[in-house]
Amino acid sequence: MEQKDFEVYKKQLFEKIWNDLDPLEEEIENNEALPYDKLMPLLREMNAFGLRIPTEYGGLGLSVSQYIEVLAEFSKIQGGIRVVVHVHNSMGSALSRLGNEKQKKEILPGCAEGTKSVAFALTEPDHGTGLDLGTIAVRDGDDYIINGRKHLITNSDFATHFIVFAKTKGGNSEDSVTAILVERDTPGFTIEALPETMGCKGGEHGLLTFTDVRVPVENLLGEEGKGVYQLEEALEVSRLYIAATSLGTAERAFELSLDFAKKRKTFGKAIGQRQAIQRYIAEMGIDIYALRNMIKDAAEKWDRGQRIPAEASMCKQFGLEAVGRVTDRALLVHGGIGYTRKHPIERLYRDARLNWLEEGPPTIQYMVAAREFLSGYRWEE
Ligand SMILES: Cc1cc2nc3c(=O)[nH]c(=O)nc-3n(C[C@H](O)[C@H](O)[C@H](O)COP(=O)(O)OP(=O)(O)OC[C@H]3O[C@@H](n4cnc5c(N)ncnc54)[C@H](O)[C@@H]3O)c2cc1C
Repeated sequence: MEQKDFEVYKKQLFEKIWNDLDPLEEEIENNEALPYDKLMPLLREMNAFGLRIPTEYGGLGLSVSQYIEVLAEFSKIQGGIRVVVHVHNSMGSALSRLGNEKQKKEILPGCAEGTKSVAFALTEPDHGTGLDLGTIAVRDGDDYIINGRKHLITNSDFATHFIVFAKTKGGNSEDSVTAILVERDTPGFTIEALPETMGCKGGEHGLLTFTDVRVPVENLLGEEGKGVYQLEEALEVSRLYIAATSLGTAERAFELSLDFAKKRKTFGKAIGQRQAIQRYIAEMGIDIYALRNMIKDAAEKWDRGQRIPAEASMCKQFGLEAVGRVTDRALLVHGGIGYTRKHPIERLYRDARLNWLEEGPPTIQYMVAAREFLSGYRWEE
């Protein structure tokens, strides 16, 4: 989107985030369920389903630099809402890069308007990811027959399509994993809800079971055996989105802490005048400043057409550490009352914990960044 149009859109969108979505927090946290009847029409009105869908398919076509600003703002309010927006846009965007024209024409316009949604089905209860997957897809004439289980699959309560990563070949060769689109109502495909999460409450991250699920070969995403590369590409920019989520949550915790430190008085003085609290404030500022600029650099590189595996993993890793420190210090600034639901700090602290897990845990981020450096990556502009 042209930058001047984006500035206008952003102003209106941010007003709606705070005026229309933020007030849903109490209801979501009390019921541990997203009120879809209210939420979906609001998100549609804001064009939040089309943020990363290209304009030729009816979306807003935001650049990554623009989108991360929007996602950071969503990450300041109740986290379950952010998760819905993030996964929907991330997967819509992945489909726009990996899908063929027929798939894109069929699915993306619905994604842009929020009547269709694509979920990402990689994680398994019985196996690891990548080459360790246990879900298999066997070719039978013009079909694949899929068997296996996936769990923790976000938006499984409303997604219309699932990008399922399955093994199409025995053994652990790089070309043994394939991405296949499976529609929600395909016979043999069942979805069960999992228990409620610690933070980012309200959405569903279901258990998917595939029992002799037959899908046509035309549902292949890209080429057979390219799943590992597609995975890496889809997760790469998505890791930057999680870093932006860390930034937004950290910024909100910081703002609340500044406000509280000015108002709360002990021994006749605002606690913000105490050196101990000032140190917490300064440390939060350092983390936010560093994270904001790391993300900006990586987003600009992606928007210029560069691949950013090392940068994305480093942003994701630094982001989760930064938001961990910032929400921790925010809790210390707030004292005991911050541990109660009277202040949003309690929720921000819990919501932030998801950032350790989404798009891979720390071990994976270290592995990707180290692999890039060891195989010759340099700090190129
Ligand atoms: C709320 C929520 C939403 C999610 N949404 C999705 C989704 O939409 N789609 C999806 O596919 N997944 C989703 N996930 C799953 C998430 O991506 C994974 O939980 C995460 O990547 C970790 O994988 P795992 O749970 O299989 O952990 P495991 O792989 O079992 O890891 C457990 C621990 O062992 C370590 N470990 C594992 N293997 C190795 C190794 N080889 N070497 C060193 N250390 C290792 C890990 O770092 C971790 O500390 C979601 C998770 C949550 C909590």
